[in-house]
Amino acid sequence: MSEATSRQSGSARPAVTLASFQQLIRDMYFEKDVARGIDGTFMWLMEEVGELASALRNGTHEERLGEFADVLAWLATIANVAGVDLSEAVSRKYGAGCPGCGQFVCTCADAEKP
Ligand SMILES: [Zn+2]
Repeated sequence: MSEATSRQSGSARPAVTLASFQQLIRDMYFEKDVARGIDGTFMWLMEEVGELASALRNGTHEERLGEFADVLAWLATIANVAGVDLSEAVSRKYGAGCPGCGQFVCTCADAEKP
């Protein structure tokens, strides 16, 4: 496996794609995640979102790094339990540009969500 090989060579961190990250989270936690279920896992995601808010307000860059990683990890966990492929989800919704206006640099009115 190429990722294992690149981990051994030098101190550079291996590239992480969304798909490989979701698989990593699956490999590490899937059984526990399924046992906890979507509802319990969603609560953990919300707790982590709160911690991200705190880190954005008062945290160091290092703390922000950790909280962004945690939010993404819990999102990946829920996706695993729900049987959702995050890469597919993102590609379907954003792969062809803004879902609102269809452009790669959004031209939606400022009042609109995108
Ligand atoms: Zn747009």
